[in-house]
Amino acid sequence: MASASAAPVARERTYIMIKPDGVQRGLVGEIIARFERKGYKMAAMKLVKPSTEHMEEHYADLKDKKFFPGLIKYMTSGPVVAMVWVGDGVVAGGRVLLGATKPSESAPGTIRGDLCIDVGRNVCHGSDAVESAEKEIAHWFPEGVAEWTSHSESWVYEA
Ligand code: GDP
Ligand code: MG
Repeated sequence: MASASAAPVARERTYIMIKPDGVQRGLVGEIIARFERKGYKMAAMKLVKPSTEHMEEHYADLKDKKFFPGLIKYMTSGPVVAMVWVGDGVVAGGRVLLGATKPSESAPGTIRGDLCIDVGRNVCHGSDAVESAEKEIAHWFPEGVAEWTSHSESWVYEA
């Protein structure tokens, strides 16, 4: 078993964000709890009200979409909770917890399947690939993230 002082094992990381509607609707604890219960480890979290420029860069891949102006207005309308979560397969696994982009296509039991209705108010963001996750983590946490060993490590992972 790992001791409390053991160096953290390097595992995959993802960027998860609770959108302004999730914050306004009091869903922060509910969403965090689902990631904690799964066994993922939190490495960073902050409440921020991002600038338009910051959000436009985050969603730069979507800048030609018809819904882009509305998306940026929505995403800068209030604070968001920016987080980094760590764990084996956490990029894909995080998106399983989130559900499909459209809540109408999200299975019950997922965050979007259980907690929202409209694609333009879908309460959470999750990185879609390991490469975009690392880019998003650098964009939102230029100060870096916490390195720590969870006491649950050997109860979540065989190795
Ligand atoms: P995600 O990775 O599942 O969040 O989905 P995308 O990266 O494709 O889109 C980013 C975000 O843009 C989504 O989470 C939605 O909030 C929004 N979005 C995507 N498609 C649509 C759409 O057809 N209409 C509107 N209004 N918003 C959309
Ligand atoms: Mg996306």
